[in-house]
Amino acid sequence: MAIRTASRTRDVAAAVVQAAIATSVVLLGCSTASAQVYERNGAHFSVKFQGPAEEAIAYRSVEILEAAYYRIGAALNVYPTQPIEVVLHTQQQFFDVTKAPSWAGGLYDGRIHVPVKGAEKISPERLTEVLSHELTHAFVTNVGGPAVPDWLHEGLAGVMEQSGPADEQDFMAHTSARMPLGSLMKSFALLPEDSVHLAYAEAAVAVKRMIDLRGTSAVVGLLRAIKSDTSFENAFQANVGMRFQDFDAMVTR
Ligand SMILES: [Zn+2]
Repeated sequence: MAIRTASRTRDVAAAVVQAAIATSVVLLGCSTASAQVYERNGAHFSVKFQGPAEEAIAYRSVEILEAAYYRIGAALNVYPTQPIEVVLHTQQQFFDVTKAPSWAGGLYDGRIHVPVKGAEKISPERLTEVLSHELTHAFVTNVGGPAVPDWLHEGLAGVMEQSGPADEQDFMAHTSARMPLGSLMKSFALLPEDSVHLAYAEAAVAVKRMIDLRGTSAVVGLLRAIKSDTSFENAFQANVGMRFQDFDAMVTR
């Protein structure tokens, strides 16, 4: 999930209705005019939207996503082959459909959901950040399965945003507040709102630290070990070369 702030958004595949067709638009379902759903497909994505007014942003979303697919794929050396479904919503639909907390600026629940219009229209920069963030969640779920701790999910999503974790590092440098990573294993949607910003910043800084210490391949190895049902502590020790509790103490002191 991406977090929404005043200035920017930093921040989770249903059945795919058809094979991807490069940059084609398909009209799906037409029982009533309001029920029409349009779809624009890229090589790796199927973007659903409400009508002709969103066609331009759907087209731009496919372009952003395809570029992000190769950028994040190269960073992780992972290239998921299953088409990834994306739904563009109005602000109201986004919160109605996803039940996301009010601070959310995007969400991945097997599909990428992004609010793109309404009172707060999304800027091109924000769209790129949100799509990159949510796409990382799709990569993480593809590699690590459903049991990946949220701090690892959100941390990697923060690091893989176009702008990297600079904002998060800056935030952490200006606060002495810390939360144990061990307390951030479950969904960030369950956190009290006043600790959300700290949780995202800390997660991104922790994952950046892991990458600096052991390389991105260690993080991907950790995700693969989590998917293979190894206990998280054992998976962490085997891939990062230290106990999780020691890493947690090191990055949150
Ligand atoms: Zn997220």
